[in-house]
Amino acid sequence: MLKIDLHTHTISSGDAMNTVYEMIQAASQMGLEMIALTDHGPKTPYGPSINYFITSLRLPRHLFGIDFMLGCESNIIDKKGGLDIPDRVAGRQDIVLAGLHRDVGWTPSSSEEGLEGVLGAIKNPYVSVISHPHEARWRLDMERLVKEAYERQVLLEVNLTHLSFLADQSVEVMQAQRMIELVKDYKWKLVVSSDAHVATQMGDDSVLDRTNLRRFLTEDIILNSSLVGVKKFFDERRRKTLT
Ligand SMILES: [Zn+2]
Ligand SMILES: [Zn+2]
Repeated sequence: MLKIDLHTHTISSGDAMNTVYEMIQAASQMGLEMIALTDHGPKTPYGPSINYFITSLRLPRHLFGIDFMLGCESNIIDKKGGLDIPDRVAGRQDIVLAGLHRDVGWTPSSSEEGLEGVLGAIKNPYVSVISHPHEARWRLDMERLVKEAYERQVLLEVNLTHLSFLADQSVEVMQAQRMIELVKDYKWKLVVSSDAHVATQMGDDSVLDRTNLRRFLTEDIILNSSLVGVKKFFDERRRKTLT
């Protein structure tokens, strides 16, 4: 069970089931210490508008006894790593994830082009996490990806929902394992996130046992194993983007 879950969706994403308040209340009841609400970016056909990510910032950051962050899982929309939220909005979020998705106006034509897009997004100072980089569909070159993520101090994500997709599970697991090993070699960190679209999915990391990945994931490389570590990382990033 995760203590901190930095990738979750609310009903505003268009493909998730629970409201902001339901998610936070459930997280609190389930004993999580912190969550991040990261709804899909506006190019997702059923996703929220840009304005949603401005209005959402009016919410407090502590409800039902736990802290939470507000942010966006933005879509990478070209091979330069352009995102579907502008800098003026991205810069105000507590957390910005970026990932490759279907039906958002751009589909990489190859693994190489997908990698180019992701490497471009890593250079965006507002992006702190790359979501599901181990996705089977893209088979991204993990050597180049982890090197760049380490140099830019961007976090790669072990995505528990994607690891549960049975159709491509062996490729997902292989890619995730390679990514974890490389992050370890670099003495860098990653995040393990549920990508919950239903409140009850939050924090559930049982797929790590089913896939045997847990043995590679030592606490020292998981940023979201410590509340102090998470707060320090995001405070430092915020300071860097302000200067
Ligand atoms: Zn995603
Ligand atoms: Zn997601």
